[in-house]
Amino acid sequence: MSGATGISFDNSYARLPDAFFAPVDPTPVEAPRLIKFNRALADELGLDADALERHGAGYFSGNVALPGGLPLAMAYAGHQFGQFVPRLGDGRAILLGEVIDRHGRRRDIQLKGAGQTPYSRRGDGRAALGPVLREYIVSEAMHALGIPTTRALAAVATGQPVYRDRVLPGAVFTRVAASHIRVGTFQFFAARGDTDNVRVLADHVIDRHYPELKGADRPYLALIDAVAERQAALIAKWLGVGFIHGVMNTDNMTISGETIDFGPCAFMDRYDPRTVYSSIDQGGRYAFGNQPMIGQWNIARLAEAMLAILDDDQDKAVEAANEAVGRFMERFQAHWKTVIRGKIGLGEEEQESDQALIRDLLVTLYEQKADYTLTFRRLADAAESQDPSPTPPHKGEGLTQLHSSGHNSARSQPPAVSPLVGEMPAGRGGFTEAGFANVMEDPAALAPWLAAWRARLAQDATSPQERAAAMRRVNPAFIPRNHKVEEALTAAVDHGDFSLFEALNDVLSKPYEDQPAFAAYALPPKPGEEITATFC
Ligand code: AMP
Ligand code: MG
Ligand code: MG
Repeated sequence: MSGATGISFDNSYARLPDAFFAPVDPTPVEAPRLIKFNRALADELGLDADALERHGAGYFSGNVALPGGLPLAMAYAGHQFGQFVPRLGDGRAILLGEVIDRHGRRRDIQLKGAGQTPYSRRGDGRAALGPVLREYIVSEAMHALGIPTTRALAAVATGQPVYRDRVLPGAVFTRVAASHIRVGTFQFFAARGDTDNVRVLADHVIDRHYPELKGADRPYLALIDAVAERQAALIAKWLGVGFIHGVMNTDNMTISGETIDFGPCAFMDRYDPRTVYSSIDQGGRYAFGNQPMIGQWNIARLAEAMLAILDDDQDKAVEAANEAVGRFMERFQAHWKTVIRGKIGLGEEEQESDQALIRDLLVTLYEQKADYTLTFRRLADAAESQDPSPTPPHKGEGLTQLHSSGHNSARSQPPAVSPLVGEMPAGRGGFTEAGFANVMEDPAALAPWLAAWRARLAQDATSPQERAAAMRRVNPAFIPRNHKVEEALTAAVDHGDFSLFEALNDVLSKPYEDQPAFAAYALPPKPGEEITATFC
């Protein structure tokens, strides 16, 4: 069915059995105002962007029904911080329907914050403006970074207050996803002993996300492996850009392999695997470096939920499931190796010493409280220099002197022009530590590693220019820095000023380009600017 919007819905999820969802209409809001509309995404979805934008306040608040939509709330369960909750479901999200995009891919269009559903329990079904803007910024930034993610189609202010720890302006977010089916969707039926619907769900998921498995020997077992593969790849990509999801509950892990639910998520500034920002993650369960392990834990929950359909012989089912779960770490390691090798400019041909080289770098970054993003971006600059400055001092010799002379070592080298102050990228720092001033505590501590790295790179045939270009394609100059995100949210929420929100979205749409005019967005937080906790 197609209306003036160009939307032609085909709602496959709504055709599943009744137990999968509850039909529910959005609750109208008082004074909807379209804050942001993603025209490029609307085009990609094959929609009439002009018509949608013109009537966006109505459509994306839920006040006006999109023709052909069948609004519903999805049922799911989930492990929240390790505790199983058998009935969660969309408490504040309403799936409007599915469209087939220009590339033939099926995509969900969902409103978040559009009112109560049968799964709301005591929640108000609403969303506050701040978190809606955060999800807009971060999900679009993730997409621009090349990381599978749900997308932002629109944000609407409702003109109504929401009551949290204080009164906040309300908003509705329009999310687009390959689907909103989660590990927790499988758990919902498994927890009820509803094996038939576990199978119905698995078949739906294979049709929709993994059609290549239809002919497989054991398609359901293959499905566990396939989801594990996409999640392993996804988490490796998160680690590559310093992303901390923050709430990797099983209801926040998609079956499609897209990142979903940008609640208290954050990007790590200083490299430390223990980093946690989420105010609700007291024990550090979802710390940066724990994410691969949690990914495996969640896959184990998926396998558990599918046990009944894996094999009539449950002992064999358990054995097969365990093996599939056991393969997760190998999968993750393989993806992570590709990511981290790319980040330091190593080609496909591995050497035995490469692993130690990678480990030594990460140890140095940790010890030096280095800014994760800028260190790698500067390494790309360093890799470009054709004619590196004199060989850095050998271990021992010269280093003590550098240490004792503090951050701004007064050696006969060119002054450590910091590309972080003033314009960027000023420093094409060669192989010396000069380019790393203000990126870590004591750049001189990186010198021995730079020497070892240079020696290693010399053994690859790639030209410095090619290597640097390749490194700049995987090492972003811009990530959604927490302090910049907070700054944009505060301006919008407290002062109705969306200019910072707009600017941040713009700069983050080209994360791998230097964009000298936006230098300030690349900087780590200054001491007073640091964000220590995020809230959802
Ligand atoms: P999350 O922490 O965002 O993954 O959400 C966990 C569960 O709480 C989901 O079932 C949500 O639908 C539900 N939930 C979160 N916020 C609200 C709200 N304001 N009203 C109703 N349900 C909510
Ligand atoms: Mg969630
Ligand atoms: Mg959430």
